[in-house]
Amino acid sequence: DPLISQIAAGEVVERPASVLKELLENALDAGSASLQIQLEEGGVKLIRVTDDGAGIAKDELALALTRHATSKIASLNDLEHVSTFGFRGEALASIASVARLTLISCRAGAPHAWRLAADADLPEPAALAQGTLVEMRDLYYNTPARRKFLKSEATELAHCLEAIKRVAMAYPEVAIMASHNGRTSLRLPKSDMQARIGAILGDAFTAESRLVTADAGVLKLTGYCALPAHSRARSDAQYCYVNGRFVRDKLLMHALREAYRDMLHGSRYPAYCIFLDIDPAAVDVNVHPAKSEVRFRDARAVHQFVFHAVQKVLSSPLH
Ligand code: ADP
Ligand code: MG
Repeated sequence: DPLISQIAAGEVVERPASVLKELLENALDAGSASLQIQLEEGGVKLIRVTDDGAGIAKDELALALTRHATSKIASLNDLEHVSTFGFRGEALASIASVARLTLISCRAGAPHAWRLAADADLPEPAALAQGTLVEMRDLYYNTPARRKFLKSEATELAHCLEAIKRVAMAYPEVAIMASHNGRTSLRLPKSDMQARIGAILGDAFTAESRLVTADAGVLKLTGYCALPAHSRARSDAQYCYVNGRFVRDKLLMHALREAYRDMLHGSRYPAYCIFLDIDPAAVDVNVHPAKSEVRFRDARAVHQFVFHAVQKVLSSPLH
């Protein structure tokens, strides 16, 4: 039912940046080492993501576009141990219901690639190196009411770039290039965590921040926290990750804020980028369709752990 698809799509496809986020996560789930992103008109006219990951077999192309078809979960038990981004099998089907979507993909060892447009019946031979190209055109072409809620090209582009940065921060080993209207807007070579954070938040951030590392067995924390007293770092740079997934989590943000409590002056916000690793069974990522919220099984333990790790690093004397 196309109408039901479009309603369901509203939860996943809020704006171009939410399409881009889903495509990037799929590319990373496929084990890509390099991503190329092309945007036009703030991502409304075109979002094209080309990866060098595992690819999709010819016979699986149509399935990839089908709702609730995911290659990532085989059983209910798997659902408790989700380690990939995707697991609902909804993103591509949702995008296809509100935009023109085409897949081109080539598996390792296949003689050539195959191309399938969401509105076509059968795949056709195509040319592409190993990996997948997903192209979305004309977002909301069939739902004009939705189109009215899109903001200016500059605003939608800014959201797209932010979506790329959120992913890029957690995957320094993946090279990422992005262009907008034919001009390069982001070039991130393969690097390590410190260099990648510096490339995104500015070298001033890493130069004036402290490395946080803490390991409590089931909980691990790593990342950088800016020292606010002499920080020129962007005040809105608050990046939290749980198992490589960007989250806007009240509990984590609160733990960070508490750790910074005596260091913040006036209305300044702390700037940080932290990565929490936790047993996937101890966290529920299935809370929100856009998946930026999580629920910890033992919220108190997580809060304490993060608070103490960050406070310790921030309060230790300068070297
Ligand atoms: P989910 O990611 O939740 O499984 P999606 O609708 O995002 O659902 O994708 C559907 C399926 O399409 C995936 O499970 C995967 O098998 C395949 N797929 C999508 N994008 C890619 C890609 N870039 N590389 C390889 N496979 C992909
Ligand atoms: Mg997905």
